[in-house]
Amino acid sequence: MRNKIEIVGVSKWFRKNGQEIPAMKETSLAIEEGRFVSIIGPSGCGKSTLFNIISGLTLPSTGKILADGQNIVGKTGYVGYMLQKDMLLPWRTILDNIILGMEIRGIPRKQAAERAVPLMEKYGLKGFEKHYPKELSGGMRQRAALLRTLLYDRDILLLDEPFGALDAQTRLNMQNWLLQIWADFGKTVLFVTHDIDEAIYLSDDIYVFSSRPGRIKAKITVSLERPRKKEDMTSEAFMALKHHLMDLLAVENAGHQDSGQEKIS
Ligand code: ADP
Ligand code: MG
Repeated sequence: MRNKIEIVGVSKWFRKNGQEIPAMKETSLAIEEGRFVSIIGPSGCGKSTLFNIISGLTLPSTGKILADGQNIVGKTGYVGYMLQKDMLLPWRTILDNIILGMEIRGIPRKQAAERAVPLMEKYGLKGFEKHYPKELSGGMRQRAALLRTLLYDRDILLLDEPFGALDAQTRLNMQNWLLQIWADFGKTVLFVTHDIDEAIYLSDDIYVFSSRPGRIKAKITVSLERPRKKEDMTSEAFMALKHHLMDLLAVENAGHQDSGQEKIS
């Protein structure tokens, strides 16, 4: 498989009150087409910053981002990005929220709706086209936000802690839902989570980042068979991976107790 996206020597400092604050150390990684890749690491290690850089919203201090071999530094519109604090627009119906990405790309409303409605039906939002976000449960709102990102029609999806605020049962349903979407659409997914079980359950590869300034501390390949089931989470292979990841993150957190801020997130 060819590399879909390559992060080459990317680092980032922020300037605050005349001081340079390092957010990400020089980081390089390559992701093959169609893979599901997660990033976990302590809070503030630069995960969202990396996504902002990949999406073109933030410029890196050094390095470049190659997508399909083309440098996309500073270029927005190349990836579908669901921000950590993704908000549906409260004054738009669910359908109008879902077609927002298509509208931005200039697709006429009628055509966009014709595409969105069958997907809403297939992926659990049937009958909610004319509802407003506040009338939906948390899980349904996240589904709508994800469908919006999906219908932006990019090959690469960046999802920043999309299920962080959901209860455990809803979260599991959403994980299975996302795996279904991923299988159906063959996207290359980059996923940030602070939940180790979630990272293992979903991913082909997991990158563990160090505390700020973040750098890659380990890459773990998850070779559990697909499709995966909830029961797999208690298998020996799953537990072994889980303990390995917990150890890696514990070391990371132990080294930074003095700051009083660093926690897994
Ligand atoms: P994570 O998503 O891993 O929790 P972030 O990428 O949000 O971490 O942040 C990494 C570090 O960069 C943090 O210390 C954060 O305070 C800092 N940072 C992020 N964005 C900015 C910004 N726009 N200006 C200054 N500092 C920032
Ligand atoms: Mg973040």
